[in-house]
Amino acid sequence: MAGPSDSLLRELEAPVALRRFGSGWYAGFFGLVLALSGLGMVLVLRYPDWLGSPELESLRESPAFRPVVHAFILGAYALAIVSLLLRRRKALGFTALAFALGAALLGGSNATAREVESWGIFFGLDFFVLNMVLTGLMFAPLERVAPHREEQRLFRVEWREDLFYFLVSSMLVQAITFLTFAPSTFILDQTSGFALARAAVAGQPLALQVIEVMVLSDLAQYWIHRAFHRFPFLWGFHAVHHSAKSMDWLAGSRMHFIEIGLLRGLTAVPMITLGFSPVALQIYVGIVYVYSSLLHANVRGNFDRLGTIIATPRFHHWHHGLEAEAVDKNFAIHFPLLDRLFGTYHLPPGRWPEAYGVPEAVPSGYLAQFLYPFRRRRA
Ligand SMILES: [Zn+2]
Ligand SMILES: [Zn+2]
Repeated sequence: MAGPSDSLLRELEAPVALRRFGSGWYAGFFGLVLALSGLGMVLVLRYPDWLGSPELESLRESPAFRPVVHAFILGAYALAIVSLLLRRRKALGFTALAFALGAALLGGSNATAREVESWGIFFGLDFFVLNMVLTGLMFAPLERVAPHREEQRLFRVEWREDLFYFLVSSMLVQAITFLTFAPSTFILDQTSGFALARAAVAGQPLALQVIEVMVLSDLAQYWIHRAFHRFPFLWGFHAVHHSAKSMDWLAGSRMHFIEIGLLRGLTAVPMITLGFSPVALQIYVGIVYVYSSLLHANVRGNFDRLGTIIATPRFHHWHHGLEAEAVDKNFAIHFPLLDRLFGTYHLPPGRWPEAYGVPEAVPSGYLAQFLYPFRRRRA
């Protein structure tokens, strides 16, 4: 069946020869990015209670926000028209134009909040748009300028699944944060004997707290990660993350929802108990998001020396290697020293894994992967 969405996908995944500069592909692609971001921001302006994150309210209300929305929609129009003029296939141009038109019809940069019954929940659409645009701007050009695998493109196999993982994890980031911070009052009550020690921890400079949180969380993360590899039931969840056959900045988002919750919860609870300030913990979560994109990114550079001190893309790519020498190696996310201490370090100078993935048949698609750990156990 060849519907309109099929022709859009065919266009996005078009062979490199059909995407060269001047073919209208880039105009269409960036027009689409601007149109979708603009539409997302208009929707947030209209339904701030449903779709906006409270943390980003001051950003939405700053005087620069509406002009930016306006510029996005205008830019989307202009690029869509350029693409329609240059390109024989019109799917990209028309889709960008349709979304830009939709954004304008919904009120554009003048959109005002609709009266809706607040559900007291928010999906963080603005956080997704911000996250997507910032992370994309950081890593997509980097992967073009200095790729490890030169033939691999942004729209490689299974990019749609991974983009959906990115969407889910960004949109639910508030829920995840809430779920992990909710037990903090209980924990603090139960351990009030440590109040003095906690005050000392919280009294340290913020930067120092963030570094300490990184070191301690990585230590906890190391053993949780190892447990996810060691115990078959846990492995079912983690196999989803390892099922990616191509590594790039988007591939790191592929993580089972329950694994994200467990990992964030189990690392955050001890940090709260120790007294680190919530701001330091939030900054740490932000660092993890960006750093994890970098670790999975398709970027070259051996960094043999640096890789012994701080995790580099090649260090984590070995964790995803399909070959026998890569199995159960490099569990640390920030500090390879942990792997050297506990005997799981593997970083042969100048070499990269030949292939990525797992030797078992993990299904593709978000839903099938969500159910995979439970089905796998029965099978
Ligand atoms: Zn792993
Ligand atoms: Zn990974």
